[in-house]
Amino acid sequence: MIDPWSSAIIDYDKLTKQFGIKSFEEFEKEIENPHFLMKRGIIFGHRDYGRIVKAMREKKDFAVVSGMMPSGKMHIGHKMIVDQIIWYQKKGADIFIPIADMEAYSARSVDFEQSRKLAVTEYLTNYIALGVNFKKKNISVYLQSENKTVEDLAYILAKKVTFNEMKAIYGFSGSTNLAHIYVPLIQVADILHPQIKECGGPKPTVVPVGPDQDPHIRLTRDIAERFKNKYNFITPSSTYHRFITGLTGDKMSSSKPKTAIFLSDPPNIAEKKVKSAKSGGRESLDEQRELGGVPDKCVVYELLLYHLIESDKELLELYNSCKNGNILCGECKLKAAAMMKDFFEKFSKKREKALKEANKILDRENKC
Ligand code: SF4
Repeated sequence: MIDPWSSAIIDYDKLTKQFGIKSFEEFEKEIENPHFLMKRGIIFGHRDYGRIVKAMREKKDFAVVSGMMPSGKMHIGHKMIVDQIIWYQKKGADIFIPIADMEAYSARSVDFEQSRKLAVTEYLTNYIALGVNFKKKNISVYLQSENKTVEDLAYILAKKVTFNEMKAIYGFSGSTNLAHIYVPLIQVADILHPQIKECGGPKPTVVPVGPDQDPHIRLTRDIAERFKNKYNFITPSSTYHRFITGLTGDKMSSSKPKTAIFLSDPPNIAEKKVKSAKSGGRESLDEQRELGGVPDKCVVYELLLYHLIESDKELLELYNSCKNGNILCGECKLKAAAMMKDFFEKFSKKREKALKEANKILDRENKC
């Protein structure tokens, strides 16, 4: 069982085998200008992504649903999702961004006012500063608690789901509060509502998620099948990305500040954090020169891989230099830290401007 609300570390191989997630490698050559997260194997798995590849190739309508739960500060690992939204937006997708304030209330006890504030000052501000274009027509952002279309759909869908099923998927028990038991149905409706008539009708839909969110995907796909006659739903697709490792070697988490570089960190703090991150270096310099470093177990390398080095050639050169012992951790960390500082210097200026735009986004009328 996977708990979407815990911060447990996930065994990707086990997950793929046990729950039938397919390898993303099969699309390596089929996607035009793939996202670098795809090329680098960070997006490692999928369900029914072929539908999305086809829609992109044939320039047909398709949708992307990518929610955010405003319960804490955004860190650099969250940027991965935003990077994917930007890529899909350029591919012409209809973008749906539910703000999961109902989930934050039921699972994390964050009140609705606090959720709204966090959604604007943290999430939407960062999304804009990173490059999501909210001025386009085909993008919808809403608070779950304010979207009547989604709430009504969730209630209709709930009719064909039993408590035993929810217990089996999420491990709920007799002491779980009812809001928490019900809220996954809201998420199911978040994913399926782009396909109802008022929101454009049936279309391939993809949900890019971390593997911990797979229980929601499985539930949604099952429910889509059950309501096929009524809504003609196309079973939603999903992709799965690896999580970035935290600075200390554990999972990066907003609730553990030592593990994370936050998108609101000042540039010099972000720089310092990279310098203190766990590396894959050897015990001594001589040993590292002789045996080389271990980039596959290095947080600094992950930061370069996930965020800092765009060029695949440059990344491969660094990887090889590390393995051959031609570059040592001190020099490598300085390089990564300088790149991170540079990113944050530019990014913090963009955030200042973005906040003004973010303040207005949730005031728009939004039925889908
Ligand atoms: Fe990591 Fe760089 Fe050290 Fe290699 S040289 S282990 S990539 S910090």
